[in-house]
Amino acid sequence: MQTSNIIIGGGLAGLLTAWHLEKKGLPYLLLEAKRQLGGRVLGAKSDTSAHYHDLGPTWVFPHQQGIQRLLDELDLPYDEQYTQGDALFQKPGTQGTARTAGAGVMSMYRVRGGMTRLIDALYSRLNRQNIKTSHPVIHTTRGDGCWVVTAQNDDERLTFEAHHLILALPPRMITQHLTPKHWASSGLINDLDQVPTWMAAQAKFVSTYASPFWRENGLSGQAFSQQGPMQEMHDACGFGVCTVTDNVDVDVDVDVDVATSALFGFVGVPASYRAQFTEAHIKQACLAQIEQLYGVQAAPATAVFYKDWAADKYVAAKRDISESPAHPYFALSRHQQELAQKNLYLVGSEFADTDAGYLEGAVCAVNAFIDSV
Ligand SMILES: Cc1cc2nc3c(=O)[nH]c(=O)nc-3n(C[C@H](O)[C@H](O)[C@H](O)COP(=O)(O)OP(=O)(O)OC[C@H]3O[C@@H](n4cnc5c(N)ncnc54)[C@H](O)[C@@H]3O)c2cc1C
Repeated sequence: MQTSNIIIGGGLAGLLTAWHLEKKGLPYLLLEAKRQLGGRVLGAKSDTSAHYHDLGPTWVFPHQQGIQRLLDELDLPYDEQYTQGDALFQKPGTQGTARTAGAGVMSMYRVRGGMTRLIDALYSRLNRQNIKTSHPVIHTTRGDGCWVVTAQNDDERLTFEAHHLILALPPRMITQHLTPKHWASSGLINDLDQVPTWMAAQAKFVSTYASPFWRENGLSGQAFSQQGPMQEMHDACGFGVCTVTDNVDVDVDVDVDVATSALFGFVGVPASYRAQFTEAHIKQACLAQIEQLYGVQAAPATAVFYKDWAADKYVAAKRDISESPAHPYFALSRHQQELAQKNLYLVGSEFADTDAGYLEGAVCAVNAFIDSV
């Protein structure tokens, strides 16, 4: 199959690129490895609620104007992170838990209904025929002035050709999956390999409750721990009423109450250590920690969700797990000539010149590309 533009990656950067191309009337094909779209934007929800609990990004920061403009354009409301009440500090060993007056104020925003609404909203504006999920790209090369991209769909191997190749994925996923030795200079490969994928070694835990028992006891849901397994926890309750439009083969459009009570935490145990335990074991340890923190007030969880990003082969490379976390930076200008000669465009968040690694970075990297088209 032949087209003008192939986008590899169906996270925020890939979907936003697709939307812009569609608005410009330019043809494209988007190839996404996983069954669902969104990439690092991932939400989990129970059957009884329409609120997506964020297992990937949660927050938009006040200075991040690009992502805020996009949310406004898509008509997606966002609210401030809940911080009313006290914070808890879990001391090491048997030293117990201290209650600190007033949680740290976090001027950060959460998308109403969960960050997955952003992915749903973009997907609902795209021509579905141009999007192929469950199509991991396993080979890319150049032939006769065009790109030749091979993807695997179940047992079938499919080849696509395009003049322009738009890579909407982290740099290390490019070197890991897209066979750059067939098309990139050694300098480009080397620079791609140096850039860490933001948050790739993280794991997130969410537990839901019949009511927000911490709020009822004057607590913000904010907790910090020197014991673990979670290092840092926050209130993750849903708020308001919103409209549902799921991105995976579901076409519902209803108004629902999303007042879902939840806490979320970053699992601070290093990825290599986490790998020695089952998911069930880690979930149990997180629930036990919440019980330790909140004592008898902690009601039984109605649902628990967990995502270990370090175990996701389309997000984390080996180096992302073994190295200390660092902010990504890619010297795009050093490779402009090679990229232009090859009609190759790098739009994943890690390639942004501002807020690289964040949602804002994805918006900035895509906008820079679109401005150049
Ligand atoms: C736990 C966690 C917490 C975070 N918290 C925040 C936050 O609070 N605020 C914030 O701004 N940012 C946060 N981030 C970062 C944010 O998620 C990213 O900046 C953003 O999602 C990046 O979007 P992207 O489209 O550039 O990349 P991705 O979302 O990584 O999308 C890349 C896509 O490419 C696909 N892909 C990979 N390999 C192939 C292949 N071979 N073939 C086809 N497709 C492939 C992947 O499956 C994926 O869908 C967080 C990330 C994580 C993991």
